[in-house]
Amino acid sequence: VLKNEGDGDSQIKPLPEDASGPRENRLLARLPQHEYDRLAPLLTEVSFGFKESLFESGQRLDSVYFPVSGVFSFLAELSGKKRVAVYLGGNEGLVGLPVLLGIDRSPVRALAQAPGRAWRMNVDDLNEEVKRGGALKDLLFQHAGHILTRLVQSVACAGSHPLDKRCCRWLLMLHDRVRESQFQLTQVDLAEMLGARRASVTEIAGALQKAGLIHYTRGRITILDRKALENAACECYRLDRL
Ligand SMILES: [Zn+2]
Repeated sequence: VLKNEGDGDSQIKPLPEDASGPRENRLLARLPQHEYDRLAPLLTEVSFGFKESLFESGQRLDSVYFPVSGVFSFLAELSGKKRVAVYLGGNEGLVGLPVLLGIDRSPVRALAQAPGRAWRMNVDDLNEEVKRGGALKDLLFQHAGHILTRLVQSVACAGSHPLDKRCCRWLLMLHDRVRESQFQLTQVDLAEMLGARRASVTEIAGALQKAGLIHYTRGRITILDRKALENAACECYRLDRL
């Protein structure tokens, strides 16, 4: 929900207007002013509700998104309607990164795992900017490199680390991006993130709740003891930390 102008609280909260701007995205925040000024008119603000889709698998990538809030989940879709979350993104990055590497159709389904806002840019405009070879290009390639590193780690993680430790890692990744202690997360979502059976996830969530790390009820999760969750997560979380 966008704030109305002149709603009287600007003295109490002097930041909202700025805070909802494109610079809340950490990539755009790092652009030199002159580059940002050139790009800003090309950006359009959009918002996404819970579970709203940004891209379907195989969909042509006409736009990219610079998130400023929310959590975006990237799901690989397998036969038999099986889906596995491969990555989570937030305001640290860009949704639609494959276009940078010449891939024009989305290899994954991207959806809002927590409601959020983003600034949309047309792919042609992005390509034009990348051709200029300025700071945005460097930042995007750096970001692509980080994601590649994390994906490699995730493959190793999924194949070797115990489910309960991976579960703690994903909960922390979500928590970092939602930036609120409570968020919406069904056990089906969590099972998709972990590529696990729902029954196993129910058992793990129950154990974490019993140990006082989280509170889990009716599709909402509250992080109660973040430090303990970090200690319980597998080593891979160190790479994911924002
Ligand atoms: Zn791991």
